[in-house]
Amino acid sequence: MNIFEKVKEVEEYIINCRRDLHQIPEIGLDLPQTSTYVASQLKDMGIGIKEGVGVSGVVGLIKGKQDGKTIALRADMDGLAIKEETGLPFASTNGNMHACGHDGHTAILLGVAKVLSENKDKIKGNVKLIFQPAEEGPGGAKPMIEEGALENPKVDAILGLHIGSLIEGEKHGLVMVSYGNMMACLDSFRVKLVGKGCHGAYPETGVDPITMAGYFLTNLQTIVSREISPTDPSVVTVGKILGGTAYNIIPGSVEIEGTVRAVDQNVREKIAKRIENIARGISETMRGSYEFDYTFGYPPLVNDENFTKAFVESAKHIIPKEDIMVMKKPVMGGEDMAYFLREVPGTFFFLNNPKAIDGKFYPHHNSKFDINEAMLSRGAALIIQAALDYLG
Ligand SMILES: [Zn+2]
Ligand SMILES: [Zn+2]
Repeated sequence: MNIFEKVKEVEEYIINCRRDLHQIPEIGLDLPQTSTYVASQLKDMGIGIKEGVGVSGVVGLIKGKQDGKTIALRADMDGLAIKEETGLPFASTNGNMHACGHDGHTAILLGVAKVLSENKDKIKGNVKLIFQPAEEGPGGAKPMIEEGALENPKVDAILGLHIGSLIEGEKHGLVMVSYGNMMACLDSFRVKLVGKGCHGAYPETGVDPITMAGYFLTNLQTIVSREISPTDPSVVTVGKILGGTAYNIIPGSVEIEGTVRAVDQNVREKIAKRIENIARGISETMRGSYEFDYTFGYPPLVNDENFTKAFVESAKHIIPKEDIMVMKKPVMGGEDMAYFLREVPGTFFFLNNPKAIDGKFYPHHNSKFDINEAMLSRGAALIIQAALDYLG
């Protein structure tokens, strides 16, 4: 089949879906309006669906004419708690905003579903459509996997994309791929350094957690600089520190919160362990104690090399090869597509399509963020070509 022609036929449909979804952004795991919209579109196409997978995820299944492998295609559906200021005629007015382009992902996958469901006779195997909530937190992929999204039939490979401008300054329409580690984990930690409060003029009567915090922060920064190889990207950031009430009081404790990013699972586990070791060491040395919580959030996102190579070959049928870029470095942002890619081989790719508002480009999660709708059909064509090639 001529994928260009088929996608051209649904281009208007994709853009309309995007605009409909853009007006009803919802956040988190519960997306009643959005998931109902998606479900009703799929039902209209005659696609069998399961709703309420991982609270409000929707799973559709397109069975081909012949038996074969199963490929899953994934889109995230959630928005952000941002008041939109784009001034677009279809701007959101409900207080939330699709400021990360997930409305575009969902619309692209609906367009893909429309083309594939109308061409079932050309499909060998199955296409599973996974529409997930809560990518922006607390994470929708994990609960969907736990509720069987990758089973019945068992998924053999998975493909997903992110649109917008996650890597600034790259060419419009550019497809960015990575053959391995592509995005970092997204972890958080909390350390409470406990001392003994007292008068600021009589430090010998207490145990000072502020001084403890000073040593802790200094030591913390030696994890990345002295204990991790410079060729393994990792970040330890303290974003919050709370302690004390007045200039002449030594407080009872100091609380510190931060985030850890790493693209390698072993590095990630090492950092988590070392943060606690340092908290224990410093607090013991300085006569105090500590509390430690570490939350392993989204894992590092790792693409499958062979699947990605095949994806690039498929992409060359759709776009000029100058429009495909192999990323030289991973990005330190996180993505819960990583959970799917931990279960089955596949690829997550970026499609660059930012759009200016009043002559200026705004980043993701900004109240004036926008995407170029003319590129949505490119995303759909890339996914259809790769899915059909994979199924063979
Ligand atoms: Zn986002
Ligand atoms: Zn996003």
